[in-house]
Amino acid sequence: MTTTQAALRAGSSITSEAGVVDRVHKRLYVAGSWVDAEHGATFDVLDPSTGDVLCAVADASAGDGRAALEAAVAARASFAATSPRVRADMLTRAFDLLHERIDDLALLMTLEMGKPIAEAKGEIAYAAEFFRHFAGEAVRIDGGYQVAPAGGARFLVAKQPVGPCLLITPWNFPMAMGTRKLGPALAAGCTSVIKPAQQTPLSMLALVEILAEAGVPDGVVNIVTTTHANDVMEPLIRSGSARKLSFTGSTKVGKVLLEQCAEKVLRTSMELGGNAPFIVFPDADLDEAVEGAIAAKMRNMGEACTSANRMYVHEKIIDEFGKRLASKMAGLTVGRGVDEGVQVGPLIDDAAQDKVSELVSDAVARGAKVLTGGETPDGKGYFYPPTVLTDVPRSARMAAEEIFGPVAPLTAFTDEAEVIEAANHTEFGLVAFVYTNDLRRALRVAEGIETGMVGLNQGVVSNPAAPFGGVKQSGLGREGGAVGIDEFLETKYIGIALAGQ
Ligand code: NAP
Repeated sequence: MTTTQAALRAGSSITSEAGVVDRVHKRLYVAGSWVDAEHGATFDVLDPSTGDVLCAVADASAGDGRAALEAAVAARASFAATSPRVRADMLTRAFDLLHERIDDLALLMTLEMGKPIAEAKGEIAYAAEFFRHFAGEAVRIDGGYQVAPAGGARFLVAKQPVGPCLLITPWNFPMAMGTRKLGPALAAGCTSVIKPAQQTPLSMLALVEILAEAGVPDGVVNIVTTTHANDVMEPLIRSGSARKLSFTGSTKVGKVLLEQCAEKVLRTSMELGGNAPFIVFPDADLDEAVEGAIAAKMRNMGEACTSANRMYVHEKIIDEFGKRLASKMAGLTVGRGVDEGVQVGPLIDDAAQDKVSELVSDAVARGAKVLTGGETPDGKGYFYPPTVLTDVPRSARMAAEEIFGPVAPLTAFTDEAEVIEAANHTEFGLVAFVYTNDLRRALRVAEGIETGMVGLNQGVVSNPAAPFGGVKQSGLGREGGAVGIDEFLETKYIGIALAGQ
């Protein structure tokens, strides 16, 4: 049993909290060493449930970023030459370590990000699964052998690692967004520099330590924590030494990075924002639809790219659906994620809290009715209550913008064609949720909706064995599934003449 587990069992959560934070390395990991940032610069990491400082971590400069990329470049050839089995074994060992330490890691994540402990454990299990999945993919990197159509030659098709990668991740899933990139990068034989969000660096620092323990060689994974994201990353993107950028974050920042990547034509994977429609047809099982709505809305306090952002409910059932959803939402326990029984933690910061509150005020000013919640509480921490609004007009700001908070906006619809048109009326296209028991309708709607993913009668879609990603301004490329590793591989064709030409 770890000290933290022992302390937790003894009921001493304060010691445990301090214990897990104390244990994390808080410096940069470059070329296999934990190092201070230039001039010893640091920044504070806060607990969003109290606003208190948890600890300080290294604040990397542009020079620190360069050193990290140089390390990734130096390790490139030797890591690319490792056998797939060796890389798979490293990922498997890291998978095991994540599970061995899940209690400590969950507490650490909850402290820096706010989500309830049960959800943090769920995220770590999900994060670990990417390592298990890509350990399998590492040994299945395929190729081809083809007879040239005119004869006389043969084509070999080989897959090779793309080269040094830059990986940038958001704060909402502090560990899973890292393993979703590091898993395929390591499986493919790529080295990398990873930059976590400044609000949640601790989970990624803990993950990098685990990778080192799992046998990942020096220089293969390097981490820079920083408050100067643009100053540190832009020179690396434009340097020509990195060959790939994999980014998860907002569409706004993704577009800036795509422009930067154009200069040296970097390969890119972009997992960007969403605006998921959640559609309930009158033939749906209403209890299942309500449960699905809670899952699609309340996972991560609504701070998820897949979060149901617009709920279209058929006019015949919207009153009953709204009543049942509001009753369940009102019954959820809000509080510090580390406390027993808490189901809804704080939002990430005061800006997030203000934005959610503004979006609710805007919808109400345009005619929406509050069924539950809707008031920002006083006191410490960035809390917002589970909220259900109905009669939300399509002109409301929240119909177009990511809410990123625990607010379910209901809008009535009349027919299938109308709801498909409404669902597609957005520049985003990540995921849609559809509840119906009519198979033909389910397929028509799933095919008609312009998204990369559809949840049919299910409120959660993320699974490492499936290809996750969006269309339109929700992104480029896929993470996970059989295709996830291709994002980190180049295809090379080798033409072989059978006779002298
Ligand atoms: P964000 O503001 O775009 O930040 C994401 C990451 O980019 C952070 O590490 C951030 O660093 C960094 N960054 C910001 N500006 C940068 C720049 N100019 N150059 C290089 N890096 C820069 O997004 P967020 O608020 O953290 O995350 C929420 C967004 O992520 C939402 O839109 C959500 O939908 C999206 N998301 C998408 C997926 C998906 O799979 N599609 C999954 C999760 C989240 P700092 O922390 O220092 O700002």
